[in-house]
Amino acid sequence: MLNKVTPAVYYLSNDDSKERPTLGLVCGDKFSLIIDSGNSVQHAQDFLKEIEALNVPPVKYLVVTHGHWDHILGMNEFGATIIVNSLTNQILEEWQNYSFDDESLQKYVESNKMSSKCMEIIKNEIPFRDSFKLNAADIIFEKSLTIDLGNKLCVLETIKSTHSDDSTIVYVPDDKVLFLGDSAYGTTTNSLFHYKQSLLLPMIEEIQKYDTTSFILGHESLCDVEEMNLYWKELISTSKARDSTSLDRAIECFERENNRTPNSNEDFFLKAFVNDQIIRSQQS
Ligand SMILES: [Zn+2]
Repeated sequence: MLNKVTPAVYYLSNDDSKERPTLGLVCGDKFSLIIDSGNSVQHAQDFLKEIEALNVPPVKYLVVTHGHWDHILGMNEFGATIIVNSLTNQILEEWQNYSFDDESLQKYVESNKMSSKCMEIIKNEIPFRDSFKLNAADIIFEKSLTIDLGNKLCVLETIKSTHSDDSTIVYVPDDKVLFLGDSAYGTTTNSLFHYKQSLLLPMIEEIQKYDTTSFILGHESLCDVEEMNLYWKELISTSKARDSTSLDRAIECFERENNRTPNSNEDFFLKAFVNDQIIRSQQS
């Protein structure tokens, strides 16, 4: 079942056991728009089945929030106009050259172009994959693009994100809904999970500009304003304890500034900011 956020906005919940992200649906009077295509043919088909049951205007557009495999591999299934920013398009162009037979997949995993989880999902959830080719995008935008679905605007904006360099967010002003994709998450570099410290505050500021009551996140589904504010607060307070490549020192610093021990989220974030220091010290 799709979750209804407002009469015009729905989403399919994420499913972590299958590495399936949240997928969004916005309906205007004339057309519908999809946000992210799913991690496979099967994921996209499952979503389509739910959309058909709703009896909404035809799906005309598909926006991909960023070029990670779990958001793009269902793309071919919707017969929709595919919209991406120019950086995501560069990633899609690489994927268009990929082959999906066993031997090729194995090669991509060995050369770190693909995770073994990704290979497993492709093998299980993309039928006829020997002849599978990912479609090309139809509309490529730079900074922002507004789509009119018939009395329903969707505003697509690129954002400098702590997760990927090519993030797009989708805002539905009438409904005060903001689809964040994975943009508010951290990322993994050299097997270390980290939040890009330098991008955190500008990103939060950018996201807070939108008058929003419902945030939809790529792997958490729905968050209200209070939950998002708590998330930002924990990220900001842990990022301040960052100036060290030692986790012990970061925890000490956090405890001194906050007069308490970090909770489990804050522990996780502290580790991620220390990792960011480690990565930056390796790069300099
Ligand atoms: Zn991602």
